[in-house]
Amino acid sequence: MSVRLRSTLDTLPAYVPGRTVPGAIKLASNEVVYPPLPAVLNRIAEAAQSINRYPDAFSVELTDALARRYGVDSEQVAVGCGSVSLCQQLANSTAGPGDEVLFAWRSFEAYPIVTIISGATPVRVPLQDQRHDLRAMAAAVTPQTRLIFVCNPNNPTGTAVGRAELTSFLDSVPDDILVVIDEAYREFVRDTDVPDALTFLDRPNVVVLRTFSKAYGLAGLRVGYAIAHDTRVITALKQTQTAFAVSHIAQQAALASLDADTELMQRLNEVVDERSRVRNSLISYGYSVPDTQANFVWLPLGDATTEWAAECERRAVIVRPFAGDGVRVTIGSVEENDAFLTAAKDLAH
Ligand SMILES: *Cc1c(COP(=O)(O)O)cnc(C)c1O
Repeated sequence: MSVRLRSTLDTLPAYVPGRTVPGAIKLASNEVVYPPLPAVLNRIAEAAQSINRYPDAFSVELTDALARRYGVDSEQVAVGCGSVSLCQQLANSTAGPGDEVLFAWRSFEAYPIVTIISGATPVRVPLQDQRHDLRAMAAAVTPQTRLIFVCNPNNPTGTAVGRAELTSFLDSVPDDILVVIDEAYREFVRDTDVPDALTFLDRPNVVVLRTFSKAYGLAGLRVGYAIAHDTRVITALKQTQTAFAVSHIAQQAALASLDADTELMQRLNEVVDERSRVRNSLISYGYSVPDTQANFVWLPLGDATTEWAAECERRAVIVRPFAGDGVRVTIGSVEENDAFLTAAKDLAH
């Protein structure tokens, strides 16, 4: 006899991390290329002095700093071990066997995983023209729906939904269904029609997720946060978190990053400029590339995806293929982007 594991695990898609290949350029995980600022590193070194102690279990100092920054109550903010963890906690807080969790597809690959682990059923609503089809998502809501993820901008396509369509979507969703607006890439958005989801916080069923992993360059430290209208949602996040999930080092690095906000945000302009250059170049080679508001571009290559990514890898550029759908390529440094563009030009026909 062997141990009995939950049978739902057999249906669990694997989370495929971007691959790191020695000597190759990694454009597979939507990281920023910038190393940590000296002020952040100093704070990390200082925080390391006390790693014999458990961290503050509820990240109070960071929670308060975020609340002040966004003009909300501290009771409306929860910090988590990356926003992936917050997605899991929200699924565990709202859904279980017999319930449905709704999201667009293709979207962030963690959504089906956290849904299945919660015991609930994932409902995937196909993208239309690489964008969220919010009308179809509204139509897919059933009495079993407990949670909806809207990833804006969407990972992996980079496309974003506008204020009017998101407003009418939220209007159509019953108030007792929690809507997560996952804004992992908010800081890269330049299209003024794409709403800051915090402007929807007057709605009792909205929770906004942000992370220090992408724009703030702290992917390796695992810290993200949720802001909700309803403090019960925040309480639920605290109930479902793994004890001491966010390290003292991560909390302090996030605080130092908030202090260095202006400098950190400044350097994103370079990413945004490179994003346009990369996209325009790809289009000039004959690729179709949807407008992107994130720090990556999407090439909907369909069945050619896997082979195309392998060809990039042969040219020492690691991209992120999603078999059958397309390839996501993170915007890197100018030199890295050049290397990618050389490969992409070579592979265009
Ligand atoms: C990267 C990403 C996250 C967050 O990742 P963490 O590192 O866990 O904070 C969340 N949502 C989306 C859509 C992402 O792409």
